[in-house]
Amino acid sequence: MSFDSLNLHETLVRAVTTAGYAAPTDVQQRAIPPALAGQDLMVSSNTGSGKTASFVLPALMRVLASRALPRPPRGTVTGPRILVLTPTRELAMQVAKAAMDYGRFVPHLSVCTVVGGVPYGLQLKQLRAPLDILIATPGRLIDHLESGKAVLGNVEMLVLDEADRMLDMGFIDPIHHIAKATPKARQTVMYSATFGGHVGRLAEELLRTPQRIEVSSQTEAHADIEQRLHWADDFQHKNALLDHILTERSVDQALVF
Ligand code: AMP
Repeated sequence: MSFDSLNLHETLVRAVTTAGYAAPTDVQQRAIPPALAGQDLMVSSNTGSGKTASFVLPALMRVLASRALPRPPRGTVTGPRILVLTPTRELAMQVAKAAMDYGRFVPHLSVCTVVGGVPYGLQLKQLRAPLDILIATPGRLIDHLESGKAVLGNVEMLVLDEADRMLDMGFIDPIHHIAKATPKARQTVMYSATFGGHVGRLAEELLRTPQRIEVSSQTEAHADIEQRLHWADDFQHKNALLDHILTERSVDQALVF
């Protein structure tokens, strides 16, 4: 399958080609067509599978469609059409970068992140300006929602990325609160490693007759990682071995479990 056959706008196909992608990944092939049709989705797919593009490309199609609509009067705060919630600031930044990369040929694309640990001033300014895609961590977005600065009444598509992690971090109430501030008629897509327990319940509450997409994870051995096994006689010997390995000149960084 090629990107051409996914019915994406020419500007998006050009952007993924510029990024060097030859063909859509498994999750992109399976999630993009129903996402473009407006379907709610529950997707289990790992980081590294190309999952970000599987929701960012359909989101950008909505942004492109909005370009044909009459512009609101100057100064009107409309808020975003697309809202992506992520558990961490780092993931929010990655999604924002993907949106800018895949949307590089979309005219006047406006992408903004609202995350914790960053001064409020710039975020407030960006929330007032014309905005296509907002990527936020739930805690900080709640702050802006409660102060009346975040407008979510025009959200067409809500994406919950790594929903299981967001729930593990205790974001269940903020997520409900944020979803309530968006229109009921929105499209909702949810990405999570699992859909059991509390994640499944959240999906039941937020999604309408969702399509379930499961992409089997492939854990590939990384070519740059050499695997070695050392037998240790006892605890002291193990510590001595570890000490020796970690003080080798070639070791810059190490993770010890
Ligand atoms: P993600 O799972 O969204 O974090 O993506 C993992 C990596 O795969 C990122 O570096 C993307 O740039 C890359 N990627 C996404 N889609 C494709 C594709 N269709 N072909 C090649 N690489 C891709």
